[in-house]
Amino acid sequence: MMRKALPAVLALLIVLTGCSTLPGAAPEETPTPVVAIPLPSLEPTLETAPSPTAACPNPDCVVTTPQQATLEPLVFLLPTPGNEPRSAWRPPLYPVPWSLSQYDHFYLTRPIAADNVNWPLANYRYGGVFFENVTHTGVDIPASPGTPVIAAGAGTVIWAGYGLFSLTPENLQDPYGIAVAIRHDFGYLGEPVFTLYAHLQEADVAVGQWVNVGEQLGKSGSTGVTTGPHLHFEVRLGENSYYRTRNPELWIAPPQGWGVLAGRIMESNRTPIQKLPILIRSLETGREWTVYTYGPEAVVPDPYYNENMVIGDLPSGKYRVTVPYTDGNKSTDVEILAGRITYISFRGTFGFSATPPPTPGLDSLTPAP
Ligand SMILES: [Zn+2]
Repeated sequence: MMRKALPAVLALLIVLTGCSTLPGAAPEETPTPVVAIPLPSLEPTLETAPSPTAACPNPDCVVTTPQQATLEPLVFLLPTPGNEPRSAWRPPLYPVPWSLSQYDHFYLTRPIAADNVNWPLANYRYGGVFFENVTHTGVDIPASPGTPVIAAGAGTVIWAGYGLFSLTPENLQDPYGIAVAIRHDFGYLGEPVFTLYAHLQEADVAVGQWVNVGEQLGKSGSTGVTTGPHLHFEVRLGENSYYRTRNPELWIAPPQGWGVLAGRIMESNRTPIQKLPILIRSLETGREWTVYTYGPEAVVPDPYYNENMVIGDLPSGKYRVTVPYTDGNKSTDVEILAGRITYISFRGTFGFSATPPPTPGLDSLTPAP
C-alpha cells in the first residue's frame, strides 16, 4: 500500500512546490505576488494567495513582471536617449505664413497632411537631374494613390484637369497628368505666387473656385509621366510658367524646431557648379544626407539667396557640410537654426563663407500686394 502511494505523494509534492510556497522555503523561491499593491515584507505568509508560474500554467494564471515587494515609492523607468529614430513622426509645422528673417518666406503649408509622409523625397528635390537630363522643377512627395492633396495656401483655382504642362486642356498625353494650379491670394516682392499639384488620380475642384489653405484639391495618383504614385509639387513666382518655378523647400514651413540649409556652390570664378553631390552630416546624431546642386536650365534661384542647393527638414543643430572639389573634399561646420534658413557659400579655392548674400536694393523688395 505504502509502496504504491509514495510515487503519487512525491508527484503531488513536486507540483505543489512549483505552484506554491511551502513554509520555511528560501526567500529566493518566493513567488511573485499577483496583486499590484506592494507588500510590506518579502517574507512569505500563508495568507498570500499562491501565484501561478510558468511551471504551473492554468486558466487562472496571471503573468506579472517580477516585482520587489517594497514600500519604496513608485519609480518610472524612462528609456535612455539613443539615436534619432528613423520613424515617420515629425514635429508639427510652423503656422503659415512664417518668416523669422526679412528674406525668409515660408508662406505655404504642405500639400499632403501631416498624417502621411509630407516631405520631399531626398533623391527628387528641386533642381535635381533625372529622366535623361530633365531638370526637376518641383519636389516629389511620396503618396499612395488616393491620398488627399490639399491647398498649400488660400487662392483661386486656375487649372484643374489634364493639359497643364502643355497648356492644352484635355491633353491626355500631358506629362503632368491630372493637375491643379492655384493663384494665391498673397504675393511676394510684388509678384503673384502660384502652386501646382500634378499626377493626381482625380481633381475635386473647378477652375475659378476659391479654396482655403488645407482644403482638399483632389487625390494623389500616378497620371502623366511618372515612375510610380507620388505628388509633384511646384511653386511658381510672377507667372504660371514652367520657367518661373522656385524651390518649394524655401516656401513650405518647416517642422517646429527644424530648419533649412541653402547654399551657393561655385567655382573660383563664381560660376555655379552643377549636379555636385554635397554631403550633410549631423554632428549630433551622425545622420547623413546627400543633396545635389541644381542642374542646368528651367530652375530659378531665390531672388535673395541666389542658391543652387537647398535641403529642408533638418532638425536644428550642428552639421558638417562637405563639398567634393577638384583637389579634394572641403568641409565646414554650420548651425541649422529652428524655423529659418541657414545660408552658406563655397567658392572654389576661396573656400567657404557664411556671409549672407548682400542686402538687395529697396526697389527689389517692395511689399507684396
Ligand atoms: Zn516631380
